[in-house]
Amino acid sequence: MSFSTFKLNSQLLSALPEKVTKPSRIQDLVIEAIIAAKDVLALAQTGSGKTYAYGLPVLHRLSLMPAAQLQKQGPMALVIVPTRELATQIGQDLSPLAHKVGLTLDVLCGGEAIEQQINRLSSKVHMIVATPGRLLALVEQGFIRFEHVQSVVLDEADRLLDMGFIKEINVLLKRMPNKQTLLFSATLPDALDALAGQVLATGHVRVE
Ligand code: AMP
Repeated sequence: MSFSTFKLNSQLLSALPEKVTKPSRIQDLVIEAIIAAKDVLALAQTGSGKTYAYGLPVLHRLSLMPAAQLQKQGPMALVIVPTRELATQIGQDLSPLAHKVGLTLDVLCGGEAIEQQINRLSSKVHMIVATPGRLLALVEQGFIRFEHVQSVVLDEADRLLDMGFIKEINVLLKRMPNKQTLLFSATLPDALDALAGQVLATGHVRVE
């Protein structure tokens, strides 16, 4: 398969690193379903190319939105991850792609002064990569609104659960009325299977 099979925005593809020439296995398996707005549960290890597997189609969908829609308050896409290190890495991977199609991306984690993040949130941000605690704090204080979220990704979902973030995850997901939910995880423990049963739409795609 080639990336052109998926009819992804060519500007997005032009922002990929040179070494990324053809889709990895996980990218082959999920990109079409994500473009089609389906919910997905994907078992994918670090190193499998999972970041572009969701990043490319989620940004592609945002790039198709009318300009007026992109002006609305609050993010259109969210990536929720267990650690700051992972959030930083994803931000580095996806920012060049987002910028290439005129979208903004911010990384919001604990450890950085919340005031700085609140200042940045006064400008429009289309995609947010965040750890659950800080994201919830910013939402509960009214600095982020979720009504326009189109896609939410839980990356390393097994680690999010291991680290005890289930309560934050449930509160965050409930605040997004109509969204596509994408779960990416290295393993499928019972707790994650149960969460998938609760939060993914009937007819979602499972890729193992
Ligand atoms: P990830 O699993 O998303 O952490 O990606 C691991 C590494 O694989 C990163 O350095 C990516 O730049 C790289 N990568 C992602 N997709 C591809 C691809 N289709 N071909 C070659 N390298 C890739």
